[in-house]
Amino acid sequence: MSETSSIKERSETPEISKWDLERLYDDESKWKKDMDRVGSEKANILDFKGRLKEPREIADLIRLTDNISRRLEKAFTYAHLRHDEDLRITKYQEFHDIAMNHMVKLEMETSFIIPEILQLSDEELNSLLEADELQFAKVPLKDIIRKKEHFLSEREEMLLAMADDALETPGKVFKMLNDADLTFPSIKDADGNEVELSHGRYFSFMISEDRDVRKRAFKAMYSVYEKHKNTFAALLEGELKKRMFRAKARNYPSAIGSSLDNDEISLEVYDSLIEAVRSHLPSMHDYIDIRRSVLEIDQVHMYDVYAPLVKDFDRKISYEEAWDIILEALTPLGDEIGAILRDARENRWIDVYENRGKRSGAYSSGCYDSVPYILMNFEGKVNDVFTLAHEIGHSVHTYLANKNQPHITADYRIFVAEVASTVNENLLLHHLSKVWTSREERAYLINHHLDSFKGTVFRQTMFAEFEQLISSMVEDYQPLTAEGLSEAYGKLNRDHFGPGTYLDDEIKLEWSRIPHFYYNFYVYKYATGFSAATAISNSIISGKIDLEAYTNMLKAGGSKPPIDLLRDVGVDLSTPKPVDDGLKLFDSLVDDLSGLL
Ligand SMILES: [Zn+2]
Repeated sequence: MSETSSIKERSETPEISKWDLERLYDDESKWKKDMDRVGSEKANILDFKGRLKEPREIADLIRLTDNISRRLEKAFTYAHLRHDEDLRITKYQEFHDIAMNHMVKLEMETSFIIPEILQLSDEELNSLLEADELQFAKVPLKDIIRKKEHFLSEREEMLLAMADDALETPGKVFKMLNDADLTFPSIKDADGNEVELSHGRYFSFMISEDRDVRKRAFKAMYSVYEKHKNTFAALLEGELKKRMFRAKARNYPSAIGSSLDNDEISLEVYDSLIEAVRSHLPSMHDYIDIRRSVLEIDQVHMYDVYAPLVKDFDRKISYEEAWDIILEALTPLGDEIGAILRDARENRWIDVYENRGKRSGAYSSGCYDSVPYILMNFEGKVNDVFTLAHEIGHSVHTYLANKNQPHITADYRIFVAEVASTVNENLLLHHLSKVWTSREERAYLINHHLDSFKGTVFRQTMFAEFEQLISSMVEDYQPLTAEGLSEAYGKLNRDHFGPGTYLDDEIKLEWSRIPHFYYNFYVYKYATGFSAATAISNSIISGKIDLEAYTNMLKAGGSKPPIDLLRDVGVDLSTPKPVDDGLKLFDSLVDDLSGLL
């Protein structure tokens, strides 16, 4: 890597393109003081034990714990943002660990609260919701009462909490094995150099234009998983049994039911998603056919599905130009959001450029007492403009929720977390498609859009279907063997990619290397979020949506169940329609690309 020599030290980067974390703590002794304060405030929590009957007492305790979490989140945010500036500096890892320790202890020390409140009669519980003192905490209280039958006695809750650590073992072992202990063989790269495979390099090889390199990486990668497939199957089975245990212990019929109930999502939403995506698989198969002809190959193998269809075109866009483009693209979002975007640009919310030791990738992160910062590694590629538009969507959402909600209801759910970011990307695509009109530019944009659909809607829904299937196998007490998992996974891939692909045996083992299968019915939310965003951005572009409704949805944060938030902007995910409409766009994009290439 000869490039590393040109990467600057952080101290060489001008202040203006670094985030301003002094707005969080202008002096680190204040960070330490905050931690001391958390320690002394926490000591007061146990005084409330056995006294949670009157609204006043309950309100005082909720306020106390809410203030502690708020302070901890601030300390935590500072530690992790500072740490990501230069991962070689261990100081902030220690800061991070101190805050984390407090967080874990807080969780244990507050574990009596819910069981104690739920000992009250239904009548008493309902009167809590009406009490003036408790109006600020109505949303979380309502949620606790809603799930009353799923909370257990104090002793049982403690037993579950005691088992928690041990139950995390399958997930931990998976991570250790997959990220640390597995060793991968070396393969010859496109220049003939021997390079050791890794997870990160695997993906770069999959998008290589050299088919032999892709094939070598693919075969080498799965040779490793083949050797450990029984261990991976046992780990995945352990993970699913953990979920089953937790769900049944809490009186849920199934693990999926328990996970969805947390977000107040019905099983219909999950099933509708799978149904809608399945009905559009013929377009995916057409897309595979375009791949076959553009790549000029007889058959699309599983190592051909990520190969680039459109060559990266050489266009350098400066950071300032990127902002100009984004501001123009997002004008349909109105003045209120426009002002937030300008604030972010001008007032150092963003850590723009790479420096030595800085965390790779991009994210938006902050807390109630900070602006929603953005970490980037901006290089001036077209893709960086999309990344900035995406992350700024998260930040605008967080900013509006924080400004308009009390701390206790500001956090929004994962289910709606990708909506604002994806709406931004779609508006950017729409804007660019009006100004970039050459054949090459159009092909790039369409392909970019198709890739998002492919990775977010199709692939994640295939994962979701697999997760549902293997979860029900475990709940029916069927053994999960490596062979059984691979057979089921192979079948799904066959449906997904269609008869035009050559289903290499290796792909049947892909289930063994996907960390998301340890995330408890998480992947489907990527697909529903993307679909909702597609519906919303289409209404914004066509002027059908009342902008205020969209802004209000963002402002609502976590104060309403996510499905209601989306219904307020005209997206009803309990029917297949929004996903179906989004996929119709995929269908037409496939046709456009086919015409262009
Ligand atoms: Zn995102």
